[in-house]
Amino acid sequence: MLPWNSSMDSDKVIEMQPITNLTRRRSPRILILGGTSDARKLAEHLAGRPDLTVISSLAGRVNQPRLPEGIVRVGGFGGIAGLIAYLVDENIAVVVDATHPFAAKISRSAEVACNTLCVPLIALERPPWEPNEHDRWCTVPDVQAAVTMVNHKNNRVFLSIGRQELGAFSRCEGAWFLVRAIDEPADKMPAKSKLILQRGPFHLDDELQLFRNESISLIVSKNSGGTATYSKIEAARVLKIPVVMIDRPRKHSIQTLARADDVLNILAGLL
Ligand code: NAP
Repeated sequence: MLPWNSSMDSDKVIEMQPITNLTRRRSPRILILGGTSDARKLAEHLAGRPDLTVISSLAGRVNQPRLPEGIVRVGGFGGIAGLIAYLVDENIAVVVDATHPFAAKISRSAEVACNTLCVPLIALERPPWEPNEHDRWCTVPDVQAAVTMVNHKNNRVFLSIGRQELGAFSRCEGAWFLVRAIDEPADKMPAKSKLILQRGPFHLDDELQLFRNESISLIVSKNSGGTATYSKIEAARVLKIPVVMIDRPRKHSIQTLARADDVLNILAGLL
């Protein structure tokens, strides 16, 4: 776990940098709710600006996160009340929610907290993947629906949905699973399974080789969007493997922006 309010040099913690009242008064303070490559890019854009202070917040899910530039804090806020207290204590002028499309709880907290305090909230979310005419997708609303669909004894399932919801598949005793995650899952694995620990981006040739070597017959994926993990979808297309695609939760009642540039434009108007 990383220290709170620590200053990072792209990959490493280099020193503790307390957020002082002085820096607080000097420039508008932006909180980026992060954990995604979009959030990192946005922090990189903004960190160099002397007229702003940028704080990135990470959930702390992975052991060695890729750290954004600028000030970073790690760990939950303690629900809506905790986030409200944090925004007040840290004198945050704008919140940018650039969390993962499936991280719905923190987005809900952000919306309620920002509404309560009249702090502007900007939502940045990469667009979902769309199937083309060669894809064989079955879109399901959530992980539970995916569990019901895959549990047949002849299925050899490639499962890469992050490690947090893997436990839902532990009751699948029929199918065999190749599970890919960044860190060792805490949840019970499916009875018949093999685990590989890898972090993207992944490349098409490697995905093709993996699916062929393991005779994968079905893929379960979240519709995360972006390029880093899209090659598994391309490989499924090439090999004509069906995909059970888990749809995104609805995160915001406000408009969601797809590009960091759009966020920068809105920030320029707000600050
Ligand atoms: P979540 O369900 O929205 O959040 C659960 C709790 O984690 C939140 O209530 C909050 O705790 C804390 N949290 C989440 N994001 C945070 C952030 N950026 N800064 C500070 N605290 C944060 O999100 P999740 O548990 O991280 O993930 C849910 C789904 O998204 C999973 O399917 C996961 O695979 C996927 N996902 C998430 C991330 C990510 O970086 N969040 C990255 C990749 C995939 P408090 O209530 O205590 O504030």
